[in-house]
Amino acid sequence: MTDEGFDVIVIGGGGAGLAAAATAAELGASVLLFESERELGGSTQLSAGLFTAAGTSVQAALGIEDTPQRFFQHYMDLNQWLLGPGLIAAFCENAGPTLEWLLGLGVEVPAKVSANAHMPGLCQAGVEDVWRGHVPRDQGYGLVQVLAKAVRDRGVEVVLNTRVQRLLTENRRVCGVVADDLEVRASAVVVASGGFAQDGELLARYYPAALRAGEDLFVVAAEGSRGDHLRFGEEVGASVAGDGWGLMLPTAYFQRLHHWQSGFPPKSRVYVDATGRRVMDEDASYAVSTGIIEAHGGFVWAIFDERARRTLPPGYAHWDADHVAAEADAGRTVRAGTLAGLAAEIGVPAGTLEATVRRWNGQLPHGRDDDFQRHRTLANKGSQENPEPIDDAPFYAARVLPAELVCTHAGLEINAGAAVLDERGEVIPGLFAAGEAGAGVLGQRYVGGGNAVANALTMGRIAGRNAATTQR
Ligand SMILES: Cc1cc2nc3c(=O)[nH]c(=O)nc-3n(C[C@H](O)[C@H](O)[C@H](O)COP(=O)(O)OP(=O)(O)OC[C@H]3O[C@@H](n4cnc5c(N)ncnc54)[C@H](O)[C@@H]3O)c2cc1C
Repeated sequence: MTDEGFDVIVIGGGGAGLAAAATAAELGASVLLFESERELGGSTQLSAGLFTAAGTSVQAALGIEDTPQRFFQHYMDLNQWLLGPGLIAAFCENAGPTLEWLLGLGVEVPAKVSANAHMPGLCQAGVEDVWRGHVPRDQGYGLVQVLAKAVRDRGVEVVLNTRVQRLLTENRRVCGVVADDLEVRASAVVVASGGFAQDGELLARYYPAALRAGEDLFVVAAEGSRGDHLRFGEEVGASVAGDGWGLMLPTAYFQRLHHWQSGFPPKSRVYVDATGRRVMDEDASYAVSTGIIEAHGGFVWAIFDERARRTLPPGYAHWDADHVAAEADAGRTVRAGTLAGLAAEIGVPAGTLEATVRRWNGQLPHGRDDDFQRHRTLANKGSQENPEPIDDAPFYAARVLPAELVCTHAGLEINAGAAVLDERGEVIPGLFAAGEAGAGVLGQRYVGGGNAVANALTMGRIAGRNAATTQR
């Protein structure tokens, strides 16, 4: 620190903040990082650490040809070109180099095929034709440990348990922050304070779709996701992007924890809407599954049978044989001796539900799903055995809806250099943002597991680089 303060202040010690701080310090900047909680990590630490990137050494080692341009095309198409192409091009071009930087710091992503976000390696992140989901060893916790070490090794000053209260400005330029009622000055400030999933009022204003889940809503994002970035943005007239968007995962109404603890629904199940017809690949990536359910009235019924309930693997909190039986005993999960009886209870045409299950029994239990191609998804997840038919009474119906709130996308609008823009679209001098706090990369459609961690670390690195070279 000089008499004038620091070169860079970073607000938030999750993925974006740690990447920004380490990068700025690498370039020789003096860096101070504030973290509101008692430990570093934020949502990044809770995540699987899955990282989407194209043209990486991990893909190359597996013989996979991919380019940032191809990633860009997929990203823009899935988001219906509602995002800024310049920003997305910068993200797609820098995600690969950011992954290589992480590998250089000590993050391990083995060059082997992974069936899911829990097995280190390369997995299918979403609905991309070329696999781009990089799963690191020790998941988000591992990423944060490596980044925290990089930050320490580069001399970043880290202050825990201190929530930044506001930004300092001078002649429209951001020149520091206030924390613990003390003013600390810097040439540049990076806002990396995560999202607002824990703040009900901000959800109502910027992501009301999350509240449609009503009492089924549960939030898995970190405690520190209080939306301070939006309050900072208001102080300086920042433009807000990503309004109305976030990631809600489809879950059974009775889940209250991320699936690692809640467990997984039985493989032998079909999702039907109010017509009684099957509407989707039940294992579809959440790049598309939430959108499909919303297009079918906001929820679907998971239909399964007694054998599926009984053979649920033990050890999980909610998708567990006893828990499902208890839900049925309480009348919240519907149970009936026949499919016609089940249909009557949930208010769908009995003949249609019977036909749906008959068609299922004739297809995927024999290895192919002509209607929804679920055999492909199951194969990509490494599933060895075909699902069973649904024919063992009693039958069950449980509501599945987007109810698990993972992250929010509304934040301070940034340009390709992670500089924050004002409402006229001009750069606010001295202010950068990244991760959930810096908006524009995370769109209406989550491009796949790994989209948000890649955004946080890639844009965090860009923010750190540009903040370090900002002159007062
Ligand atoms: C359970 C779970 C699993 C997930 N899995 C994946 C996955 O595998 N892949 C993927 O791409 N995405 C995943 N996500 C989403 C992804 O983890 C996040 O979107 C991303 O990590 C956010 O990074 P961030 O740096 O913006 O925010 P965070 O990591 O949340 O960091 C923000 C930090 O800022 C701190 N802070 C807040 N306000 C202040 C303040 N005023 N002053 C100081 N500090 C402050 C917070 O305490 C927090 O530590 C998952 C999320 C969850 C919750």
